[in-house]
Amino acid sequence: MSMPPDRVALAERVRGFMPLAEGLALHEAAHMAPPGPIVEIGSYCGKSAVYLGTAAEERGGLLVTVDHHRGSEENQPGWEYHDPTLVDTSGRLDTLPHLRATLAEARLEDCVVPVVGRSRQVAGLLDLRLAMLFIDGGHTEEAARTDYECWSAKVAAGGVLAVHDVFPDPADGGQAPYHVYLQALADGFVDESVTGSLRVLRRPG
Ligand code: SAH
Ligand code: MG
Repeated sequence: MSMPPDRVALAERVRGFMPLAEGLALHEAAHMAPPGPIVEIGSYCGKSAVYLGTAAEERGGLLVTVDHHRGSEENQPGWEYHDPTLVDTSGRLDTLPHLRATLAEARLEDCVVPVVGRSRQVAGLLDLRLAMLFIDGGHTEEAARTDYECWSAKVAAGGVLAVHDVFPDPADGGQAPYHVYLQALADGFVDESVTGSLRVLRRPG
């Protein structure tokens, strides 16, 4: 199923870090997943959530998108991906209002459940069998490994695992998501597709 053009146009306008081709590949990957919930780690302003949430809506399911909304290391003042217009009145980054505005404008509030919290804490609370897990949270070695370790065991047999910002060549970017990808292969996930830095895998089942 292809993404409706109005949703594509909206996703393209939302601030964030999801190139069009990779967003379309995410939407497609969600349609390959078995029935059940989709979890995204790293909502930011909801750009990727438009692609995954649209697939969830079309599947008659839900997307749970998890973020503490204070930004990753690289989003903080002085870092490469800092956006000063996302700073709240207390002087800290707050992307939650932007996520909510995105979901409202996309008319996806019935199919997307935002969860505000740290990935590890939320994982400990949710006993889910996931149709799909998308990892796009913190990019330090520790953050990426923690996301994988806390969430990957919840992926159902036949379920889909997608990892963003995978760069096998260190010249192209940080290595933490690539290490997560290698760990997933070592754990028995198999490659499904590659689009830019997006890797889609599946747990055999
Ligand atoms: N998927 C988004 C981009 C995500 S950027 C898009 O399409 O644009 C990474 C996000 O991960 C940031 O918003 C940051 O706040 C969040 N994050 C980083 N570490 C986290 C953690 N431990 N728990 C929850 N969210 C985290
Ligand atoms: Mg990313």
